[in-house]
Amino acid sequence: MSTPAAAVAAGVLPGRVWLYSNYHCNLTCTYCLTESGPGVQRRELTAERMLETARQAAELGFTALGVTGGEPFLVPDMPKTLAGLGAILPTVGLTNGTLFTGRRLAAVEVLAGTDVALQISLDSAVPAVNDEARGPDNFAKVVAAIPALIERGITVRIATTGESDNPDDLARLCELHRGLGVPDSDHVVRPVISRGRAVTADLGVDATVDDLPAELTITADGAFWSPFGPTVINGRLDTDLLLTRTTDPLRVPAQTLLGLVEGRPAGGDTTLNIR
Ligand code: SF4
Repeated sequence: MSTPAAAVAAGVLPGRVWLYSNYHCNLTCTYCLTESGPGVQRRELTAERMLETARQAAELGFTALGVTGGEPFLVPDMPKTLAGLGAILPTVGLTNGTLFTGRRLAAVEVLAGTDVALQISLDSAVPAVNDEARGPDNFAKVVAAIPALIERGITVRIATTGESDNPDDLARLCELHRGLGVPDSDHVVRPVISRGRAVTADLGVDATVDDLPAELTITADGAFWSPFGPTVINGRLDTDLLLTRTTDPLRVPAQTLLGLVEGRPAGGDTTLNIR
């Protein structure tokens, strides 16, 4: 078996390691993979664990980090933690973008000029369509936050979840994000995956392990095949994509993941546009 560094360099293993900072959220989106919401049980990676995992990821040859949840910015000191992660490896932080006012907007200025991008969810240029899945006033908060962050020197990407059959809808959304200062290269569109709350709501597409890039994902519960792995349904963690409960040293889940990737039959590439 090769090393993670060699596998990442050869493109056999994706370079990004994901960290689930937390599972709680201020929203309750209809397609949420993790059944996140205000009242869910708190399961968090501490800042120290995230930074130590990042250092080990860099030593192992991984090349990028991602932070997701839940809503990461509900965790105190998340801006400082992200800045620390960005000093180790280029980092993308996923956020619903609804919390960037007042003290939180001021605190996030620490990310200006760092190697950290914030990826904000925005699903439609039509406020009512966007808010149907993500909650009242979501659209208004997000379109206010994006230029406020960009003005402060923070890199913003936009993630659109769900695919419309109407190309005009996507064209309007792209016109909107360009107007907000986000170029096409920083806009990703991905399908709803039928896991978590999306199953309950009968939404999304089924994704098998072959559809999901093998991106090492670390949570308070263990290490998973993909950030689409540590999902929650009916309050219970899915373990079908659990690699190992051991996350420290990171070498253990990294080698486990690599062994599984190298053991896959040829042609088992991903078939869904998920990133
Ligand atoms: S999809 Fe994201 S923003 Fe929506 S409830 Fe889940 S964690 Fe929160």
